[in-house]
Amino acid sequence: MNSKPGKDGKWYPATRKPADLDRIRGLVHSLHCKEGLSRRKTQKRLLFRHGIRRSIGAISQDLSRYECPECAVRPAEPPRAFAWR
Ligand SMILES: [Zn+2]
Repeated sequence: MNSKPGKDGKWYPATRKPADLDRIRGLVHSLHCKEGLSRRKTQKRLLFRHGIRRSIGAISQDLSRYECPECAVRPAEPPRAFAWR
């Protein structure tokens, strides 16, 4: 009887390596900032498309603690002084 090795299955360990976290943060930002998904949709996309479980709280932290080029250049409120005279 030869059984197939199940050790190298698809399940990721609960603890993530820093490199994985970097990758996940990158994904979170590209989904949220570039594609404009909400946090909840970002979470679902991570899970279904990438097999990554991430809580909404963790996603929020990823977004607030790190900047990608997209959120770095996002303009603040445009000045309105123009509109009235
Ligand atoms: Zn971003």
